[in-house]
Amino acid sequence: MRIDVVTIFPGYLAPLREALLGRAIEAGLVEVAVHDLRDWTHDVHQAVDDAPYGGGPGMVMKPQVWGEALDAVLAADERPARLVVPTPAGRPFRQSTAQAWAGEQRLVFACGRYEGIDQRVVDEAAARMPVDEVSIGDYVLVGGEVAVLVMVEAVARLLPGVLGNPVSAEQDSFSDGLLEGPAYTRPLTWRGLSVPEVLRSGHHGAIARWRRDRALERTADRRPDLLAALPADALDAADRAF
Ligand code: SAM
Repeated sequence: MRIDVVTIFPGYLAPLREALLGRAIEAGLVEVAVHDLRDWTHDVHQAVDDAPYGGGPGMVMKPQVWGEALDAVLAADERPARLVVPTPAGRPFRQSTAQAWAGEQRLVFACGRYEGIDQRVVDEAAARMPVDEVSIGDYVLVGGEVAVLVMVEAVARLLPGVLGNPVSAEQDSFSDGLLEGPAYTRPLTWRGLSVPEVLRSGHHGAIARWRRDRALERTADRRPDLLAALPADALDAADRAF
């Protein structure tokens, strides 16, 4: 997969080259290119924003600069691209979104700042490629860069070969619609607290049942909306007994 990020703060994306993702880039599993939006400005001040039509506070990112930037970035590679525009006014980014995007050949992220990007940039792009306006949560960040770090990490760890053990992604929260339950490691007792007996029993069936029950319990407590959204056949008789 190739990932392009267009931003006025390229340095913000440096963590993409750290740790797991950095190793995936080195191994050639994912290709990342970060572009400075100001490279496509033509004035001495390298302005990327202007006052909003209709008045009001803040500034809006100019369509001409974004249009030229996206044209150039898209032309730099032949693979078909999906454009992602982070915005608090977007559809929620979920694990299912990450799974769907992990099947793409190319993702291009457009990081907004100020009051966001002139809407015509999104509308014009949508006429020639798939475009998603997405939010990473119900809060407002200063810019799209942190949202891109979140989304790229969620997608990249699903790419074949990126995680050491792919089974861990299959057992993570949201994979079966539930939150994952608690995890423990050595020592057996720490500050007077012991690891649950069943996890030391070696009884695989009992361990799986205990994990499932804790996942159901935690989801009911913290995210009842997830439980309510499960399809009817997602819970078996033992789940319902719980
Ligand atoms: N005026 C916009 C609104 O109220 O919907 C908020 C713009 S915000 C201050 C500036 C930029 O931060 C956005 O263009 C977007 O790139 C990013 N951003 C802020 N919150 C976000 C969120 N929850 N999810 C994704 N991107 C976000």
